[in-house]
Amino acid sequence: MLGKRPASLYKARRLYKNCLPAERSRPYLRGHFLYFRPNTLTEAVRALAASGGQILAGGTDFFPLLVDRPPSECVVDISGLRELKGVIRDPQYIRIGGLTTWSEIIKTPLPRCFDALKLAAREIGGIQIQNRGTVAGNLCNASPAADSVPPLLALDAEVELVSHSGSRRMPLVDFIVGNRKTQRRPGEILSQVLIPRTIENAASTFLKLGARRYLVISIAMVAVVIEIDSARRVRQARVSVGSCSAVARRLVELERDLIGAPITSGLGSLVTAAHLNDLSPISDVRATATYRRDAALNLVGRALDSCGGNA
Ligand SMILES: Cc1cc2nc3c(=O)[nH]c(=O)nc-3n(C[C@H](O)[C@H](O)[C@H](O)COP(=O)(O)OP(=O)(O)OC[C@H]3O[C@@H](n4cnc5c(N)ncnc54)[C@H](O)[C@@H]3O)c2cc1C
Repeated sequence: MLGKRPASLYKARRLYKNCLPAERSRPYLRGHFLYFRPNTLTEAVRALAASGGQILAGGTDFFPLLVDRPPSECVVDISGLRELKGVIRDPQYIRIGGLTTWSEIIKTPLPRCFDALKLAAREIGGIQIQNRGTVAGNLCNASPAADSVPPLLALDAEVELVSHSGSRRMPLVDFIVGNRKTQRRPGEILSQVLIPRTIENAASTFLKLGARRYLVISIAMVAVVIEIDSARRVRQARVSVGSCSAVARRLVELERDLIGAPITSGLGSLVTAAHLNDLSPISDVRATATYRRDAALNLVGRALDSCGGNA
């Protein structure tokens, strides 16, 4: 593949405007391409294996991180891989292609338990960002403030990673391991996010607090999924909090304490500060650690009340 210049190879002058003039005019640099836009997943993983290049999807995190520098490695632009776009339902899972954009998530009819993910999608940047930004990009960028992570954790999501040598799957909770750190190996593409179809009728919600109402990085955000039984008591509860630790976290003790609670009593009153002990918020330009912890406690209470009210 690298020997012959593929039809979908672009010189990407804008991307490389800061390269030396000699490099700019030659898409193959020292035997490699600078920018490649494959049409199939097979082509993409082969190009990644051969080049060790960087993946570009919607570019909404990729380009801001470069500031005004050119990319340091070859770029494999996967935005043309139609097979990674859209949502598919099979008997066991709802599968979200890695290249599905936030606008597509908002528009796609999905079961009730996805309401939190749809609410999060509406909060990701503005409409232009939602049209370009992808689900996999948000997860692989692994920002502590990535808005999709709490709702996907609350859905027990798994991710599939595909490389030249095969594919593997893991729970999302294991995939993101730190601030901008994931278990993704070089050459792997996050091809899809899989949601087990176990609690589709559960109520769910997402609340985000920022310094202003729109176009803002989260100070804290919360996703809640509540399933009730025929006696209108909680059968299953999932609560996750983002922006209050390096990686968004499920509040497992609170989830346990909610089981069996009657939804009529107002679930929000059941959360205590101790339920948030596993969070480790930091102080930064957006908020102090104390404010974040307090905000998270309030958001969890409100999200539980709202979810219980709609369950
Ligand atoms: C103005 C602005 C506002 C924003 N607001 C928000 C917000 O409110 N909330 C929020 O959570 N985010 C926000 N973002 C961040 C961004 O839009 C999202 O994280 C988006 O989902 C990233 O997707 P992308 O396709 O653009 O990723 P890209 O920028 O293309 O890629 C991001 C990273 O993921 C890797 N990558 C991408 N796709 C894959 C894949 N399939 N497999 C493996 N690696 C991959 C890339 O190599 C790169 O390291 C904002 C960004 C901007 C510019």
